[in-house]
Amino acid sequence: VTDLRPGELAAELRELLPAMAVLTDEPDLRARARDWWPLARLREVRGDRLSLPAAVVLPRSTDEVAAMMAWASRTGTPIVPRGLGSGVCGAVTPSPRSVVLELSSMDRVLDLDRESRLIHVEAGIRGDDLEAALAAEGGTLGHYPQSMAISTVGGWISAWSAGQASPGYGQIEDRLAGLTAVLADGSIVRLTPRPRHGAGPDLRRLFLGAEGTHGVVTEAHLAWDAADPRIVWRAFGYPAFETVLGAGRDVLRAGIGARVNRGWDETDTRHGFADQTDPDRPCLGVVGVAASAPGLDGRLDAVARMAAEHDGREIDAGVGERWWSRRLDAVDAFERLMGPRRELGPGSLIDTFEPAALWRDLPRVYRSVRAALEAHTSEVRCHFSHVYPTGAALYFTFVLREATDDQVERVYLAAWRDALAACQEQGGSVAHHHGLGRVKSDAWGADVGASAADLMRRIKGALDPAGILNPGVLGTPDRLPRLNGAGRSPSR
Ligand SMILES: Cc1cc2nc3c(=O)[nH]c(=O)nc-3n(C[C@H](O)[C@H](O)[C@H](O)COP(=O)(O)OP(=O)(O)OC[C@H]3O[C@@H](n4cnc5c(N)ncnc54)[C@H](O)[C@@H]3O)c2cc1C
Repeated sequence: VTDLRPGELAAELRELLPAMAVLTDEPDLRARARDWWPLARLREVRGDRLSLPAAVVLPRSTDEVAAMMAWASRTGTPIVPRGLGSGVCGAVTPSPRSVVLELSSMDRVLDLDRESRLIHVEAGIRGDDLEAALAAEGGTLGHYPQSMAISTVGGWISAWSAGQASPGYGQIEDRLAGLTAVLADGSIVRLTPRPRHGAGPDLRRLFLGAEGTHGVVTEAHLAWDAADPRIVWRAFGYPAFETVLGAGRDVLRAGIGARVNRGWDETDTRHGFADQTDPDRPCLGVVGVAASAPGLDGRLDAVARMAAEHDGREIDAGVGERWWSRRLDAVDAFERLMGPRRELGPGSLIDTFEPAALWRDLPRVYRSVRAALEAHTSEVRCHFSHVYPTGAALYFTFVLREATDDQVERVYLAAWRDALAACQEQGGSVAHHHGLGRVKSDAWGADVGASAADLMRRIKGALDPAGILNPGVLGTPDRLPRLNGAGRSPSR
């Protein structure tokens, strides 16, 4: 590990890469000292002294990233790749001797291939800017995370992101045709875009969900579609969450081609759709189909038939439309609750957990995780929006209210510990599209299993033998005190 002091380190970097921005002022470091992990936000508003990185660098090209990584490898400097820090699990938590390598200045569109419908971008491009570039061509990526305007393509790949229209457009892996990454030693790997290929293993997957531990993704080739924003909605009330899940599964399996297919449990329906609650059918399900889909009426008839088979009763379809128009509101809501305003007051904390499971295990995962969270929290709600032939992801939102911020941190950590254990006991995976970060890092080994963990350690050893890329994440050793057990920094 480098023994340069922060000032010397920055001077050396400026000499090495004079054109690259190297930030060392405290407000700049502070702004990159955390992501949107609710516990990090709590600690910040509580006044804890966050661990600041030694510097933040803002490269402008793959070559600059390569030079930066070669330097980091020579000096043993830990590097924390960062998009815009919208991750919610603490994956961007720099240690005092680390350098944050933020991709936000690499935000250009490099090429647009209209015939193949591919766009080649730098990895720091923000989601909404990418959509705007495609909209100018009459296109869309179809990847719409709620955090569109505060996240980057590199972050999407690295956290294995999922968008809200995933039933129609797939997840980020379905859009990712090729990429460029820089490994720990500074070597550049270019994975050429292909529609699909069988020439050996799919190396793109080394970077999907790697949370910055395998390399720095600097460019991506993404597949896009013709924009077709008009959606026809159908909405149904169901007697229980299990029945909405069943309808969602059957709509998917029937190949109706729904663009959106989601359902809410009773508490989440009450929370989001107070005016839609029906005592007999307190759970809501909505399906949205592209208005231009061939045979639209037949598809909508099939949706209604499947809903009826699961005891669904049709309600005003406007509920789907209203949800869609509010789908990006979560960023403001989260900021109001966990930012300086703390609208729920001191001692409050809100977080989300997105386990994935096979259909056969899903009802048990739902019940067990819900019970584990309920034991610690004042409110638990759940919905699903990502469905697959073999299973689905659940999305729990949980709210904690304790007397003080110190108490809530203790309860929060206990809630996570029990929810993760409950999920894994029932055969679920603890991450679908948020990654593991620090809050779930202890669950990583059990999630993938011993043999896969061993293989991943060997791959990590080959790609980054000194362990300089995002230490502490994905089972890699950390030089920081454990964040999810040790509590706050002593020196506030
Ligand atoms: C209110 C809110 C709503 C959200 N909704 C969604 C949603 O609907 N769907 C969804 O998938 N996620 C959602 N998220 C989570 C978050 O936006 C995603 O995880 C996103 O992919 C992170 O992108 P980022 O650019 O901010 O990455 P960061 O948070 O900066 O980084 C995330 C991880 O990726 C690594 N990383 C970032 N860039 C690179 C790179 N170029 N090369 C290598 N590693 C890199 C980091 O080291 C870190 O491990 C939401 C977050 C918030 C706060």
